Amino acid sequence: MSINVSEGPAPTPAAPPLSAAGHTPHAVVTARDVVRRYGDGDTAVDALRGVSVDIAEGRLTAVMGPSGSGKSTLMHILAGLDTPTSGEVTVAGIDITNLDDNALTRLRRDHIGFIFQFFNLLPMLTAAENIVLPLKLAGGKADPAWLAELVGKVGLGDRLSHRPSELSGGQQQRVAVARALVSRPSVMFADEPTGNLDSTTGGEILALLRDSVDTLGQTTVMVTHDAHAAAIADRVLFLADGQIVRDLGRSTAHEILDALETLGGAGDEPSASGDERSEADEADEADEAGKR
Ligand code: ADP
Repeated sequence: MSINVSEGPAPTPAAPPLSAAGHTPHAVVTARDVVRRYGDGDTAVDALRGVSVDIAEGRLTAVMGPSGSGKSTLMHILAGLDTPTSGEVTVAGIDITNLDDNALTRLRRDHIGFIFQFFNLLPMLTAAENIVLPLKLAGGKADPAWLAELVGKVGLGDRLSHRPSELSGGQQQRVAVARALVSRPSVMFADEPTGNLDSTTGGEILALLRDSVDTLGQTTVMVTHDAHAAAIADRVLFLADGQIVRDLGRSTAHEILDALETLGGAGDEPSASGDERSEADEADEADEAGKR
């Protein structure tokens, strides 16, 4: 299948420069007093216990916290994959709290891009077909110039006609990033996007996410247990026991590791990197890479 599909929507302008003159970005996603209770009675688990947060347009927000702190639950609720027990969530100005399943499906299709730890590409489709699938499912068509820009941005080169099984993990995640971006979603959610990659390849994917924010103004929320990954974010939210307990601006990997330690645990093994160098060495490198 050719990547050139046909005429499509006009490009979306990138977000304004970050906080140029004290400018407060618009919130693309909002949560107010969100509670998520699983089960009831004695066995009830409150995975989220009153979370309120605004996700700013054109920024990369990382969500961290120990295992079981509610990261996945929060992401699923902000992305319309789950509904809160109480509280309110808006996405692109739409109150999603009371939408039925069909409306939620449309909302996800029209406003949300996803990147998963295990890529979740369709194995029978080529890279190019996977990338344009969200547009096809929405009955839309891709702008050839936009597709060419996207393919260039994710660096897939001559791999477009290959199926996922013929691609490396890093290449598969590049396809997934392009697929998430192709419909210019209001917000892109990345769930442990480097969790299944070695540190070098993971770093390349993180650079790609950062570039999507900087050059396309792509609002992004990334759940990660990796302080080096969170160090590329503009903001780092820390969850503990179902609540946001810290909210940092752009931080170094060192600062993030320190913050995790004050939560009473260092997260879920807070480095995805498997070599013997110290956390500090890796944190310094991540800080250098992140603070461009
Ligand atoms: P994290 O992503 O930070 O590891 P989760 O959001 O997965 O945390 O889980 C938060 C809490 O909710 C945990 O105590 C977990 O056991 C519980 N939980 C998550 N999903 C369910 C479920 N489907 N049923 C019951 N409890 C759940």
